[in-house]
Amino acid sequence: MSHIDPLSDILERITTLYRNEVRLVGVEHGLHPVHLEVLYYLSRCNKFSDTPAAVTEFLGVTKGTTSQSITLLASKGFLTKEKDPVDRRVTHLVLTEKGEEVAKSAIPPTVLKNGLEQLGEGQHALKEQLETLLRSMQKATNSASFGLCKTCKFHQPIADGQFFCELTKETLDAAGGELICREHTLD
Ligand code: SF4
Repeated sequence: MSHIDPLSDILERITTLYRNEVRLVGVEHGLHPVHLEVLYYLSRCNKFSDTPAAVTEFLGVTKGTTSQSITLLASKGFLTKEKDPVDRRVTHLVLTEKGEEVAKSAIPPTVLKNGLEQLGEGQHALKEQLETLLRSMQKATNSASFGLCKTCKFHQPIADGQFFCELTKETLDAAGGELICREHTLD
């Protein structure tokens, strides 16, 4: 009989239920889970990370899957493609109002949000433990962290409402600190 690690088993069941709930919301909108994941990612990432290449890296899918997903989402009015004003070779993926609404309603699934709320103060300890687990797995697989900008080593608050990014040398709105970034670096 195979030995199943209890923690691993719990995480597997949670991710399966998570995926299933996302799939059900997708059915309502005629979308597959990967389409909702693209929308959710774009609703949380900053302007350095809203490109097809960043979506591919974040989701760990093929370029072809990303390309097909973007084409479908654009044709259904969930996002638009916009050329970067400085570097015309770069395309930014911008959510429409409809795309923002679906992203927010689909992920995280309501059952997960409710379950986490029931943990009360216990959420903080769980968050720390899961972050440690995630960082360990990302390090082992040489994956980008895609963490919150405000936790990046290049993030330097400079004044109320602004911060300086030491990597891109840009002064940015403080609200951007709550977004995820492809260039996020912990140390
Ligand atoms: S501070 Fe780090 S996470 Fe924030 S924009 Fe700069 S590189 Fe990205």
